[in-house]
Amino acid sequence: MQRRKLVAGNWKMHGTAADLDEVRAIAGAAAQFGGQVDVALCLPGTLIHRAADAVPGFPIGAQDVHASEKGAFTGDTSVAMLRDAGAVLTIVGHSERRDLHREDDSGVKAKAEAALAAGLDVILCVGESLEEREAGRAVATVAGQLGGSLPERIDPAHLALAYEPIWAIGTGKVASCDDIAEIHAAIRALLVERFGAAGEGVRILYGGSVKASNAGEIFAVADVDGALVGGASLKAADFLPIVEAAA
Ligand code: PGA
Repeated sequence: MQRRKLVAGNWKMHGTAADLDEVRAIAGAAAQFGGQVDVALCLPGTLIHRAADAVPGFPIGAQDVHASEKGAFTGDTSVAMLRDAGAVLTIVGHSERRDLHREDDSGVKAKAEAALAAGLDVILCVGESLEEREAGRAVATVAGQLGGSLPERIDPAHLALAYEPIWAIGTGKVASCDDIAEIHAAIRALLVERFGAAGEGVRILYGGSVKASNAGEIFAVADVDGALVGGASLKAADFLPIVEAAA
């Protein structure tokens, strides 16, 4: 099945108003790939409104969201608040949230369901640790995370998955194409078994030290439908060649 590729940047805790020129440069150039590849930037909360104003029509996203509509949740942001700021998508379940903020599968699922129900697209992340990989448990770990964190109902137009092996994030170590192919095929099989045709349509992104020099070979792997890019998404000069490789 042909799936249009999605290349999303994850700025993590980087970026102030001084970096809006990078957002403009990325959005401007991404328009030229509009027919072949979807591009989005998931920014820190403080930049979402400004960026959405600066590049109307270009998808600006968040990196996390709270599952509740409102309430006593100091420091958190609701789906309605993100939409109000101009976000059209959000990442949920990034390993840095799962690890540093102790998020578990059921919490990630609640976030994904709240976001989708209220009209935010979702990129849901999964991935194994180095310890789990070395113990031969990479596929089982990812399958377990998916079992616990996927929404009950899915719509491929609004949900993408990102496979991000934790040991490959920000380390410069990229999973081999064989490793990526194995996990993406396992994820696809799970999706199809559980959701049928909708599972065929869901895009599965790879993430973890993706850069211009390795993007082409990663995008050539079966069932790799794009990338979630951290460090190499901060500058248009680094990010745009990755988008081009997906086109
Ligand atoms: P990286 O991060 O590209 O800097 O490895 C990817 C991610 O964590 O989404």
